[in-house]
Amino acid sequence: MGEAIPMNMMILIMAFAYVIVPILFFIELWRGKFVSRRSWLLYTVMVGLFTIYLFFIGHWDFFSYYLRIMVMVLFFIMALRSYFKVKHLPRRGPRKRWRYRLSLLLYTVLSAYFGLAVLAAWSGYFYDGKPVRLQFPLKDGVYYTGHGGNATVINYHNAYPPQAFALDIVRLNRFGTRAAGLAPDEWERFVIYGDVIYSPCTGKVTEAKDGLKQMVPFEMGEKTQEYRKKHAAGNHVIIRCQGVDILMAHMIPGSVAVKKGEPVEVGDPIGKVGNSGNTSEPHLHIHAERDGKGVPMTFEDRFLKRNSLMFSE
Ligand SMILES: [Zn+2]
Repeated sequence: MGEAIPMNMMILIMAFAYVIVPILFFIELWRGKFVSRRSWLLYTVMVGLFTIYLFFIGHWDFFSYYLRIMVMVLFFIMALRSYFKVKHLPRRGPRKRWRYRLSLLLYTVLSAYFGLAVLAAWSGYFYDGKPVRLQFPLKDGVYYTGHGGNATVINYHNAYPPQAFALDIVRLNRFGTRAAGLAPDEWERFVIYGDVIYSPCTGKVTEAKDGLKQMVPFEMGEKTQEYRKKHAAGNHVIIRCQGVDILMAHMIPGSVAVKKGEPVEVGDPIGKVGNSGNTSEPHLHIHAERDGKGVPMTFEDRFLKRNSLMFSE
């Protein structure tokens, strides 16, 4: 599989950002070798904002949701420990040393960058207008929102108006990850694969597509481009309810259980989570659309964002 390289590259970059960089930052805090309290403070603020940045923006279903919490807890322990090491230091450092001044400038610039990104993510927790109120369409598991929310930094769909507020959902295993392995090429190794999708509302089926083959996970090469473009949603169902079209995409061929024109009740099975269409790995894509524009959705009255968990029975 020639196309596995970019994915492996992406996972390496993510491992570096989520694991290696925090460890390096925390070791520096632990050692507490700072010239002044001011330099310690600026460094700690920068590492803190980086940790919050990872907490909101990181894709923690790859390495484990538990790690998301652990990194945050570790930051507080390290920051507290280093405080006791530096509290006797002078407030200011050697102002004439250019390396000292440069380090302060660097901490400030990075703090501003991570701070602004956190604000952008936070802005995605809110929305205007009335949402369409739905029932969560999956059962018996802990489901994780990979993309979701009202800002592009936490939801890439928001770059496309019809898909604004769309969600990509996966399911977590007991280790807090979405698959057995980081980038397996078998559908069955993804926890959510084959899960039954239940109608999130009572309405009428306005579109039901079945029979399209599934993609090999992470195979994004040129050979697949035409299929991806033509059949972006793969095997999918659209249900009209509350005046809004709800689209659920990427189902297993042969699993679509409803037909166009059919009425459906909330909770009726409609298909199974698969990997057909323009998708890199098995997941449920769901969005609501009215007149070509995305509509915010709530499930059990919750507006889901990246890293939201849904404990479904
Ligand atoms: Zn999607």
